[in-house]
Amino acid sequence: MSSNVPETLRKYVVTDLPKYVEVGGHHKPAPFWIMPDMFPGVKLRVAGAEASKMVGSPHAVPHTHEGPEIYLAPSEEKGALVIEVQMDDEKFLVEAPFAVFIPPGIKHCFRVVTCQKPHYVLGIMLADWQQPKP
Ligand code: ZN
Repeated sequence: MSSNVPETLRKYVVTDLPKYVEVGGHHKPAPFWIMPDMFPGVKLRVAGAEASKMVGSPHAVPHTHEGPEIYLAPSEEKGALVIEVQMDDEKFLVEAPFAVFIPPGIKHCFRVVTCQKPHYVLGIMLADWQQPKP
């Protein structure tokens, strides 16, 4: 398909996605939809995979990072997707739609328990996040 994005705006439109990136703890390169500096000044990192292809097999071993991560499942169909989240020694089930905040330094991963039809689970990493003042 040819693009009709105006020349001056092309830097704001990225379509050669996803970018596959090796990530610590993950079994294979993870598909990224937004990368740091893809857009001017944006330090956000968004990975995401289609969950119906991940049922039962964890995408990563429990791992930590310096910044926080948000697991996001934007779904209008309640319960169509269920994941088991591990945070440190706790494991719990979460039903889509969900957003789960993983604080920095918490060991985490998830496993897809049920996914009846294609749904995305996004991992949003906030590189320039700052601890709120108490
Ligand atoms: Zn992670």
